[in-house]
Amino acid sequence: MVMTLEIRPTALADAPVRGFEMLIDGRWTAGAEGRTIDRNAPSHGIVVSRYQAAPRMDAERAIASARKAFDHGRWPHTTASQRSRVLLKAADLIEARAEDLAYLDCIEGGKPITQVRGEIAGAVDIWRYAAALARDLHGESYNSLGQNTLGVVLREGIGVVSIITPWNFPFLILSQKLPFALAAGCTCVVKPSELTSGSTLVLGEILEEAGVPDSVVNIVTGTGPEVGAIMTSHPAVDMVSFTGSTGVGKLTMTNAAQTLKKVSLELGGKNPQIVFPDADLDSFIDAAVFGAYFNAGECCNAGSRLILHKSIASDVVKRVAELAKYVKVGDPLDPATQVGAIITPQHLEKIAGYVASAKNSGAKVVHGGDQLDLGMGHFMSPTILEAVMPDMEIAREEVFGPVLSVLTFETAAEAVEIANSIDYGLSASVWSRDFDTCLTFGRSLRVGTVWMNTFMDGASELPFGGYKQSGLGRELGRRAVEDYTETKTLNMHIGGRTNWWMPRQENWPGQRTDRDLAE
Ligand code: NDP
Repeated sequence: MVMTLEIRPTALADAPVRGFEMLIDGRWTAGAEGRTIDRNAPSHGIVVSRYQAAPRMDAERAIASARKAFDHGRWPHTTASQRSRVLLKAADLIEARAEDLAYLDCIEGGKPITQVRGEIAGAVDIWRYAAALARDLHGESYNSLGQNTLGVVLREGIGVVSIITPWNFPFLILSQKLPFALAAGCTCVVKPSELTSGSTLVLGEILEEAGVPDSVVNIVTGTGPEVGAIMTSHPAVDMVSFTGSTGVGKLTMTNAAQTLKKVSLELGGKNPQIVFPDADLDSFIDAAVFGAYFNAGECCNAGSRLILHKSIASDVVKRVAELAKYVKVGDPLDPATQVGAIITPQHLEKIAGYVASAKNSGAKVVHGGDQLDLGMGHFMSPTILEAVMPDMEIAREEVFGPVLSVLTFETAAEAVEIANSIDYGLSASVWSRDFDTCLTFGRSLRVGTVWMNTFMDGASELPFGGYKQSGLGRELGRRAVEDYTETKTLNMHIGGRTNWWMPRQENWPGQRTDRDLAE
């Protein structure tokens, strides 16, 4: 049984297609070649948004604009308090337009409206956090280098930053990058996913109103191979901040390497939830369902691998399957919906292909496993697969859909081995009432975040990112602004310098002796 909620075609049928321009060099503009991209709501199959499809020359114009704004504009030189004020104003304006932003991410991304409202609220908090960090960005001083030397370490905005984001959390992921880059005094070129560009473009309007000067933020829409490729390789770009698949992340690194750009990557995950017999199972059952089906499993942090102690496995699977029956799949505009539409028909096929191949390899479907026909749109039933072995494709690859794989273990060492055996290392959770078990796992797992007796909680203060092929660098946390800076050393000499070759003048205060030089 799967609980489905009816799609209301009328909700979108009368709505006009929303057209967007791009923001380049302080102006809203169409693409140079006049091409556009139509976005169908994945839940309703109706065109809801029309973006500009930028050719390469638009991306180059946006990069030149950001370069000019960094090299000759006032933004990098404004005081931290001024930048902070602009970011706080932006946060207020995002809050004021939250419903518009949530609606766009909901209909373009197929995400449940109540969930997206939460994401926008989370984003507002991040903008405010970045505003606070802006005022605390500072270097270091060394007054300990001897009487002749004072060392000062400066933090300077790194320059022009290319920001490339995926479709699964369009506004939230953008907010994990852009306010920190702005706080550091950088200028930016932003490319959202061609599937969910709407909320990023609305943010462009918000930033203008908040007082971000022209050309500091440029937003270019279009495809990855056309726009993204130039943003990751252009010599005028200093840093690339990318969130997306591991495959495109590797390509980004290769492109950026040609001019040695700094690269920050947030990539895929295949995250385990490890459960011991002494865990609070009531609490875990809910977290298992939430972890697997939140955002239809289209989530880098999805808890897509359950690693259960053998003694509790069959009971836990039965209870997770029972609860999964009550997860409501359907119209993302309906506030009761918990799982919305799958982003595209091609992606739905890919998810279904993973399930079919898992079955061929010996996995057993305990719940779901099918595409759902709701009369329109693309939907997948919440799915549970058991008898999954650690070497199966379904246990190692990111499905990015509502598919939960169940594996089992007998010893703690085996659980660590299974958890760490894959290429990804984004996050994990461990469930036990025993403090030692939780801490031992916290230290043994090669992942960026370990939850203990909870799942997918987050806060602006806590760094987020992956080990291994889940990424490079961290977002959020108190160092988030520093990521967008260069370090410069000022090495200052006080008093007369001891010459290397010219005859020395005697009796300068602080004159170094031969012994000093030898040391
Ligand atoms: P993709 O890697 O396909 O795309 C991400 C972005 O990169 C899009 O804007 C895309 O453009 C762009 N892009 C595509 N090709 C290139 C290229 N050659 N050069 C530069 N940019 C390019 O990922 P998805 O959008 O499919 O997102 C899903 C992936 O993102 C999953 O693997 C998921 O795990 C990961 N992710 C990771 C998170 C993390 O924080 N670790 C968070 C969220 C998602 P376009 O699509 O418009 O062509």
